[in-house]
Parts: sequence; structure tokens; C-alpha cells
Amino acid sequence: MNGNKFVIPGDLVGIAEEFLAGEGVYEEGGKLIASVTGIVEVDEKSRRISVKPVTGVPAVIRKGDCVVGRVIDVRESIALVELSKIKPNEKREVSNSGVAIIHISNVRREYVKDLNEELSPLDIVKARVLDEKTLQLSTVGRKLGVIKSLCPDCRVTLRRNGNTLECPRCKRKFKKKISEDYGTGIL
Ligand code: ZN
Repeated sequence: MNGNKFVIPGDLVGIAEEFLAGEGVYEEGGKLIASVTGIVEVDEKSRRISVKPVTGVPAVIRKGDCVVGRVIDVRESIALVELSKIKPNEKREVSNSGVAIIHISNVRREYVKDLNEELSPLDIVKARVLDEKTLQLSTVGRKLGVIKSLCPDCRVTLRRNGNTLECPRCKRKFKKKISEDYGTGIL
């Protein structure tokens, strides 16, 4: 029932009346909460519920690294990013397919009210690794943020026009956290 579900830190995975907290899970007020990003596993015998990490923390990623990834989901306060390449220079491929997290407070220096105005699924972002264990990323900084984005309606690449992105077909405008390297092909 609860098994095989993909969860992120803070997600409810079960209740303490039914299960014991296993690895990657902690109890808070009778609730069992995921402490890592991963897949929920239920051991029916021991009634233990745990979260098997999928971030895998590729050995090559370290705090301070600059990484490139694709936004796969945007929730209220976090965006999930699938990592593909790592900076600098070598363009090493990330060995494990890591799913990293950008918290709303790490998007830009200024206060962000609506994360959906800054990042969208399928956006390619350049970000810095804040924490290599939990794969927390930051896009604070002029060179960090969205480097490629598609119009959700037309599926064509948006063009940068100052601080906004514009669809060349339908002319729709998007604000977003744009990297100053947007559209330059510089990773
Ligand atoms: Zn469009």
C-alpha cells in the first residue's frame, strides 16, 4: 500500500500506529516522515517502513560544484531537478541519476512568493550544490538559474529579452530565475 512510492524529505510515509520508523524515516507527533529522497519500502514482517535513497550521491558531486539538470517537478516550496552534467570544465556525466532539490529559499537572493513563476518542469537549470548528501541546490547568483526553457503551449525554445523570456511564436512572457548564460550554450 505505502510501498514503492517516490518521496522527498518531509513527505508523510505512514503513521506510527501502523509502522516503525526504519532508515530514512523519522517520527514526529505520531507521523512517519521521510528524511531522504527515495522509494518507500515496507517490511511487512517487522512492520518497519523505510526510504531507500535514490539520490545515490554520485561520488563526483561535492559541495560547491556547479551542476546542470532538468526540472522534473515543481511543488509549493521545492523543485526537483534531475542532474545530468557537472561543472567545471570536464563535463563529466553524473554517474548515478541523482534527483536534487532546490528549496524556494535558495532560488534567488530576493524573497520568492511563487516558485512556479521561477522554475517550470522541463527547464534546464544551472545550480550550485549546497549539500552533497541531501543534494540541495541553489540558483542564487547571476550565472545560475534557467539556461533553457520551452513554451508550455508551443514547445519552442523561449528567447531571452532582458529579464524576461518570451515565446517567439505566441509571444507569451515568463519571468523566471534566468541565468545570464541563458541561450548562450555555456554550461
Ligand atoms: Zn508559445
